Amino acid sequence: MTETERSLRQAVIDTCLALDAKGINQGTSGNVSVRCESGNPNAGFYLTPTSIPYATMRPEDLVHVALDGTVTGRARPSSELPFHLAIMRARPDAQAIVHTHSTHATAVSCLRESIPAIHYLVALFGGNDIRCADYATFGTEALSQNVLTALAGRRAALMANHGLIVLGKNLDQALALTVEAEQLAVLLLRARAAGSPVILPDDEMERVLLKFADYGYGPVAPDPA
Ligand code: 13P
Repeated sequence: MTETERSLRQAVIDTCLALDAKGINQGTSGNVSVRCESGNPNAGFYLTPTSIPYATMRPEDLVHVALDGTVTGRARPSSELPFHLAIMRARPDAQAIVHTHSTHATAVSCLRESIPAIHYLVALFGGNDIRCADYATFGTEALSQNVLTALAGRRAALMANHGLIVLGKNLDQALALTVEAEQLAVLLLRARAAGSPVILPDDEMERVLLKFADYGYGPVAPDPA
């Protein structure tokens, strides 16, 4: 393993440890991936292994996944390999993927609702909501398809009765957006508990999206719909 490979694998583990430290993840829940070489669409990605606590995870435990689906490594890949692979194939704007079961985002996913434009920062995710993907069993192709649909034109999606998935232009951005999405879910649930939150109208969100266009978040693959 080259030093470059090792440090990229370690950066994935550091992202997982940061999720733990922020209280975003519990136990071995969630998984993280990063493309091996940005700019080379055939290089594949590194993915966390299944069921290994982040505190004891080593760079060698991550698996390499080629875009044809070939998995290499000493450990078993995350059970969510199918949606990491589907996203890495379909979304060139995704350099890194963070999947978590953070409490509030997952609570909204159990309501099977999207996060609407309750706050202008919803625009960070590419549109005027964070959609909730239809339910399918974890680790299945059906879930991958549902997630891809919900992610159209977006950097994040909830997964019904499951959790949150966030795409980033790098690991740091995917981590920061994961924290932001969880906070939006907190706001939604608290505002709802206190009353009926006002949702920002589409024309206001259009203005916010324009302001965010040069904010350094990079492009989101457009919504084909
Ligand atoms: P893995 O340990 O297999 O990645 O599973 C964790 C998880 O969150 C599944 O959705």
